[in-house]
Amino acid sequence: MPKRPLLATAAALAVASALVLPATAASAPLTGVTAVQDHLQELQKIAEANGGNRAAGQPGYKASLDYVKAQLDAAGFATTIQEFDAIGGTTYNLLAETPGGDANSVVMFGAHLDSVSRGAGINDNGTGSAAILQAALDYAGSGATPKNKLRFAFWGAEEQGLVGSSHYVQSLSDAERGQIVAYLNFDMVGSPNAGYFTYDGDDSDGEGAGPGPEGSAQIEKLLNDALAASGVQTEGTDFDGRSDYGPFIEVGIPAGGTFTGAEGTKTPEQAQKWGGQAGEAYDSCYHQSCDTVDNVDQQALDRNFQAISTAVKTYAEQFPQP
Ligand SMILES: [Zn+2]
Repeated sequence: MPKRPLLATAAALAVASALVLPATAASAPLTGVTAVQDHLQELQKIAEANGGNRAAGQPGYKASLDYVKAQLDAAGFATTIQEFDAIGGTTYNLLAETPGGDANSVVMFGAHLDSVSRGAGINDNGTGSAAILQAALDYAGSGATPKNKLRFAFWGAEEQGLVGSSHYVQSLSDAERGQIVAYLNFDMVGSPNAGYFTYDGDDSDGEGAGPGPEGSAQIEKLLNDALAASGVQTEGTDFDGRSDYGPFIEVGIPAGGTFTGAEGTKTPEQAQKWGGQAGEAYDSCYHQSCDTVDNVDQQALDRNFQAISTAVKTYAEQFPQP
């Protein structure tokens, strides 16, 4: 880069800034879904550099946690690492909260950061982790101060049976549990043969696990409306206890979230409204070594990320909504 004269004319400055701008733009931090995709590339590299996985108790998990924590620290979040025992030794949850917002009214967003040991775990659950990470960074970048405190959780050892999230909820006092007004969970939001599911907070499908705690229905509605805005008609998925919302609904905390499907099979009706292949799994690489960056549907990732961002911005201001 050539030196610029100390006193430049407007015309010379215009030329200089025209020359300088592309370099500045290239070094500016990514935002939005482009940044989410970048996080997934980084998580893939972390797995490749650490024996092919990011499983709890393995070096790839700790490297993933360090990667996420560094970005949240740099953006001004107050981060905490919570240590606990899992199969294969000590592992961790990462909690990050906004410095501002009412500590007696906390809205949580969570995703498990660990993979299974058979692969890099990019759809399961790099996608949920990267999406809530970027929604947090974008919110911080907006400069807004939330009315509610926002707390982002990256769970360890979900794949061993919700170990991290269970440990977290059990470690809270009754008063601390009472401060959490909602928990939103994101586990697999970029499945390659994507379904568009929201946790069935109001039990509108009338079967299975029944409704979530009071307040869950309005989370489902907000996420349904956000996905409808990108042209997607959702279906309910039961709170069947297969992800980290389980320990929260057990203690009566309203919960919700989106999910694009795992080993289940897409029906012809679903293929008609959502596209993709009927008779095939939503994610045929579920828990396999082929769950890499190539195993992500970018449109599903984008739509879910937009819905998550909407939920962050909305619930930063108020939960429940008026
Ligand atoms: Zn998962």
